Amino acid sequence: WQKTVKVAVTGASGQISNHLLFMLASGEVFGKNQPVALQLLGSDRSFGALEGVAMELEDSLYPLLREVSISTDPFAVMSDADWALMIGAKPRGPGQERADLLDQNGRIFVDQGRALNEAAGRNCKVMVVGNPCNTNALIAMENAPNIPRKNFHALTRLDENRAKCQLALKAGKFYTNVSRTAIWGNHSTTQVPDFINARIGGRPAIDVVQDMKWFKEEFTPTVANRGGALIKKWGRSSAASTAVSIADAIRSLVTPTAPGDCFSSAVCTDGNPYGIKEGLIFSMPCRSKGDGDYEICDDFIIDDWLRKKIAATEEELVKEKECVGHLIGI
Ligand code: NDP
Repeated sequence: WQKTVKVAVTGASGQISNHLLFMLASGEVFGKNQPVALQLLGSDRSFGALEGVAMELEDSLYPLLREVSISTDPFAVMSDADWALMIGAKPRGPGQERADLLDQNGRIFVDQGRALNEAAGRNCKVMVVGNPCNTNALIAMENAPNIPRKNFHALTRLDENRAKCQLALKAGKFYTNVSRTAIWGNHSTTQVPDFINARIGGRPAIDVVQDMKWFKEEFTPTVANRGGALIKKWGRSSAASTAVSIADAIRSLVTPTAPGDCFSSAVCTDGNPYGIKEGLIFSMPCRSKGDGDYEICDDFIIDDWLRKKIAATEEELVKEKECVGHLIGI
């Protein structure tokens, strides 16, 4: 057996966690020989539900699940964590301004960032899901200087999966034929799903589909607005597919990336090869050797369409950063 991997999860009684925790415990994320301990964060609001989640996990008799602990103290939950999956966040209220949401959520991520800094494993990998996830990840990173900046991710894998789905449907191919599908920038409607570098069956997607109007006027907005479209149908935000994409995002870091392929993750822009402003958490194509670490792919073609779209999402993230300057010491 390998050493138990300790996974801290915030928002552990929420919808996404209700799918994800069972995937983590089953071995389908970290592998069938990898014991897991789950350290779950709740609040006074959610404590009963959290106890219920822990009871269900225990009753599932997963052979790899070695321990489930629950707490309302972020320092206890982050203790020695190898991974921190930061899912909890305050939802946007009716008519609430984005700046207020950034501020209120930002305060949660200041506290949890400090807890990471004090208590988590020194090489803890951090995946922020709670929205606005890029800027929340930035706040956590800036408040956790003891953890390498490179270890902070915000989830854009769901956007990548949505983009792959649309490309596969359009080309009439199974989605496993779609590769090199990057999402650039913010996990918001300014995100840039990259059809220029995407491949279908090993060929450029633009040669396979041969319909630029579709790429620009249908594919791009469909992917960027998919979250909102789903809320209209369901009356709540995506939970199961988000949990699947978090599992995908972790697996992409703990298994080697296929040659020539990539996965999307919003990571720190320090030293990035595309000239994107440093000090942001920005989705880019990455690849991994499977050791939990990654590098940013440096061979993606940036044409005029991508350059303009990337500049717009970059601008949005710069503005978000300005809104939370008081939480990150600038
Ligand atoms: P839920 O509403 O089901 O759960 C949210 C959790 O956040 C609750 O369990 C709550 O737990 C916690 N929370 C923390 N602070 C607060 C607060 N101040 N007020 C209210 N709740 C709080 O949400 P989901 O699980 O569906 O989604 C979680 C987050 O993930 C959301 O921010 C959502 O926007 C985001 N998301 C991100 C996606 C991405 O691709 N990046 C995709 C889909 C969703 P507790 O009471 O224990 O604190």
